[in-house]
Amino acid sequence: MSYLLGIDIGTSGTKTLLVDDRGRIRASVTVEYPSYAPKPAWSEQAPDDWWRATQESIRKALRAAKARPAEVAGIGLSGQMHGSVFLDKAGKVLRRAILWNDQRTGAECDEITQAAGGRARLIQLVSNPALTGFTAPKILWVRRHEPRVYDRAARILLPKDYVRYRLTGEFATEVSDASGTLLLDVKNRRWSKELLGLLGIDEALLPAVYESPEITGVLTKAAAQATGLVPGIPVVGGGGDQAAGAVGNGIVRRGVISATLGTSGVVFAHADRVETDPEGRVHTFCHAVPGKWHVMGVVLAAGGSLQWFRNTLCQDLVAAARKKKVDPYELITAAAAGVAPGSDGLYFLPYLTGERTPHADPCARAAWIGLSNMHTRAHMARAVMEGATYAMRDCLQIIQGMGVPVTEIRVSGGGARSKFWRGLQADIYRQAVWTVSSAEGPAYGVALLAGVGTGVWASVPEACDATIKTLAKTVPNRKNVARYEALYPMYGRLYRSLKDDFRAIAQLA
Ligand code: ADP
Repeated sequence: MSYLLGIDIGTSGTKTLLVDDRGRIRASVTVEYPSYAPKPAWSEQAPDDWWRATQESIRKALRAAKARPAEVAGIGLSGQMHGSVFLDKAGKVLRRAILWNDQRTGAECDEITQAAGGRARLIQLVSNPALTGFTAPKILWVRRHEPRVYDRAARILLPKDYVRYRLTGEFATEVSDASGTLLLDVKNRRWSKELLGLLGIDEALLPAVYESPEITGVLTKAAAQATGLVPGIPVVGGGGDQAAGAVGNGIVRRGVISATLGTSGVVFAHADRVETDPEGRVHTFCHAVPGKWHVMGVVLAAGGSLQWFRNTLCQDLVAAARKKKVDPYELITAAAAGVAPGSDGLYFLPYLTGERTPHADPCARAAWIGLSNMHTRAHMARAVMEGATYAMRDCLQIIQGMGVPVTEIRVSGGGARSKFWRGLQADIYRQAVWTVSSAEGPAYGVALLAGVGTGVWASVPEACDATIKTLAKTVPNRKNVARYEALYPMYGRLYRSLKDDFRAIAQLA
């Protein structure tokens, strides 16, 4: 028997999967670590916590599966994207990593946009606009506010690539994660010399760039000792969590897209050519499939809106559910299912924490609009679910507008666990939606990439075909599709009419 290890350096913990060479999961271990918020809206983690969690989770996974270390044929790494790890000449960590959800870099984003010669030119260079979460503005922030750290920095790495350095001693990354630094020429899959020059960042600070299934190095003796493995095991590039999760869902061919309705929502499409939205409303990144790309829209509070509704307005249902030993969401969705499509004229804008796609508007806020004395809490629940699903449709619509075909939609996340919400998605997307067999996300995706890199499967699509199956199909209801087609345009209009007022409210608050 030979095994593959998929390791995902997430924000709440590191998840390690031990998968056999037929794609079956033999062990899954998660080890958590803390985040630090030294100031409001700052977010940091200690890279050595990731390394400790990696060592512990590998040891536990081997033990749980009773696998012999020599049977591990390859390792794949995934992780939270955009984080920045600063290392000195000796490879020592110089400061805590600044994470994807850290918001300190507004000024640096403006600086990058200006240095590039404007937003349109920046999108031409690196296929994306500057966002506070990305890595490049973090580098500029450290250069400005912590010059002593910056001057001593010999390498800057992404989170999973720091773990790679500890495992192999190599400074390497791969195209999908590197796309989220804002320093990669996404079209040509190499660092953008032009933008690096304009920003005055030395390319020598950055690691070598590989394709995701390529071998980037092998396990050192010291790392083998630390993890309980044997030296020489190949470590492949792996992928950023979104691209790796997409491989884990089989989103590796033109036409197949995923709609993940978790706390946040993500619509992710494979693209054979580099496709950018000139307005930069969706991200365009390299895919973990060699020579391919992906486009992705993000809804900040998708399932999160229903979670907020449950927590603030449904305490009685939560208590009733506890007594009945059912999930409170089941009671809420059952109530919503009793209301007609369109919630009798009630709309909900799901912008509880602002919105990323399509508005890129931190000031946007949530609202029910159209409330009348005939509406009940069940209407409000249905409107919340409809609003969150319209927000997902906004992403889908932009992606289709870029010429990316959508022939199959695979749904996942908490929202896909509900039959009612799957039906609502099919009705609002106007297309059948499928659930798939794999539910282990990015760690599974990079275990497959490790298999491709070490010859278990010939290509990424072949690995996905061999291991991932579609399960339940939910078809749209023709009458509901027509109803939602009539209602959806108003959803977009409401945001546009309120946009300026949201900004004014933000200033008053
Ligand atoms: P996360 O994104 O935090 O990993 P999940 O993918 O589990 O979490 O998604 C959680 C969200 O999914 C919840 O906030 C809720 O909106 C939705 N959800 C979870 N279970 C159900 C359910 N049974 N019915 C409807 N919605 C659900």
